[in-house]
Amino acid sequence: MSTSTTAVQTPDLAHKVLYIGGKWVQAEGGRRFETENPYTGKAWASIADAGVSDVDLAVKAARAALEGPWGKMTGGQRGRLMNKLADILERDADEIAMIETYDNGKLIRDARWQVGLMAEWFRYFAGAADKIDGTVMQDANPEFFVYTRREPIGVVAAILPWNAPLLLMTWKLAPAMAAGCTFIAKPSEFTPSSALALAECFAEAGFPAGVFNVLPSSSRDVPAALTQHEGVNKVAFTGSTATGVKAAQSAIAHLARVTLELGGKSPQLVFEDADVEAAVNGLLRGIFSATGQICHAGSRAFVQRPIYDKILAKVVARANTLKLGDPRLPETELGPIATGPQFEKVKEMLARAKADGALAACGGGPDESLGGYFIKPTVLTNVKPGDYIMREEVFGPVLCIMPFDTEEEGIALANDTRYGLASGLWTSDVRRVHRVAKRIRAGTVWVNAYRGVSPGVPFGGFGASGIGRESGLEAINDYTERKAIWIEMTGQTKDPFKL
Ligand code: NAD
Repeated sequence: MSTSTTAVQTPDLAHKVLYIGGKWVQAEGGRRFETENPYTGKAWASIADAGVSDVDLAVKAARAALEGPWGKMTGGQRGRLMNKLADILERDADEIAMIETYDNGKLIRDARWQVGLMAEWFRYFAGAADKIDGTVMQDANPEFFVYTRREPIGVVAAILPWNAPLLLMTWKLAPAMAAGCTFIAKPSEFTPSSALALAECFAEAGFPAGVFNVLPSSSRDVPAALTQHEGVNKVAFTGSTATGVKAAQSAIAHLARVTLELGGKSPQLVFEDADVEAAVNGLLRGIFSATGQICHAGSRAFVQRPIYDKILAKVVARANTLKLGDPRLPETELGPIATGPQFEKVKEMLARAKADGALAACGGGPDESLGGYFIKPTVLTNVKPGDYIMREEVFGPVLCIMPFDTEEEGIALANDTRYGLASGLWTSDVRRVHRVAKRIRAGTVWVNAYRGVSPGVPFGGFGASGIGRESGLEAINDYTERKAIWIEMTGQTKDPFKL
């Protein structure tokens, strides 16, 4: 399939089935569900609807691969397969990106960029697969030779959201493959198609059967069963904080390992000495990219009073000219909200914000001229730190903006949140950069920039934004267990009870 940028018809309903143990299989009872294209609001894919018995099949297949061919491969062999996968992703990037765009309304240019990032992540971790080291504890005990090994944690269950389905999966999958784990992906019920497209790439690359399995399901009983399954050794979750807590509780109940990438309410602090044009661009990028449906969206802006009016006017002026429309067209700047329920949630949060006294400097509600799930890019003023809209994640194109006076006050406002995923800091004073960056409680501080990611840099949150970090070489540690091996060297193990 080639990427068409001019067609506006959704393709005929695509039919897809589960991928378990290297085979394409129907779901338990032959059940299916449909997913819709949020731009048209019409069904575009019919997907096999996994049930709880399919969970068990997937866990068995993943375990068999772990104990079979995959578990016997060297890191170098795993790395070669991962590099092959990256080649295939680069070759098929247009096609895979278009599937993401149909599934969740992401702009084709963003989807294409993210498939490119996936290849980068696989290559980075492919290079690490044959460099997983243990340590010799040379002074632990003179009578013993002691060393450690890092071994794969085992079967990983990845529970995924709808906002960046494949890239967020890759952040778990690439280190898991490098570590030698096997993987069961449970894509969001709203965006299951691209995970199945990735399964085709795995099959073509020649990964052994059962290394990568995909369980799409419309039922929330399926991810719950997966996290509860005794055969799952690790749950890697990305999604909302409320669901993440449930997933973690299920995993902990059988002592599976857990990492959580959750929500955010990330602040952007703009000081009076900032480059105004750059800061405006950073605020726009932070909240309107991906229609605000990014976990690290910069949804609270605090601007020092002397430049507040200027920054607000410029952000509003550009927000008012953003081009909403078909996410497949290269000129479109803002796509729809990805799902019907999310569209309703954004509208409700806007209504509540207005009832709390917020004023819309632009936008403020849906764009009904377009059909689909479009919300106009919105900037809310007259907001207070305690307002619901300032405390809870909207996951839509809604920026709250307010002025501040002193550096101390700005830092306090930025940190006045239970989340702590990311932040932006805009200033030309290098001393202030270090002073403030140190005090912001967030997993990432971008300085005079917003939204940079790299496979080598850890990403994750403080507080209610999650547990653990993804990416960076250390991410492999979250997919391995450390084992200590003690070897007695004197040959004089004595009866422990004789004096
Ligand atoms: P969600 O929490 O509703 O769903 C996430 C996944 O959890 C889905 O696959 C869902 O089927 C599954 N799930 C449902 N019930 C479950 C249960 N009982 N046990 C285990 N899994 C269950 O989130 P969503 O609506 O898909 O995604 C949006 C949210 O994700 C936002 O809050 C956003 O901030 C967050 N998010 C965070 C990051 C990050 O990296 N921190 C990235 C993307 C999205």
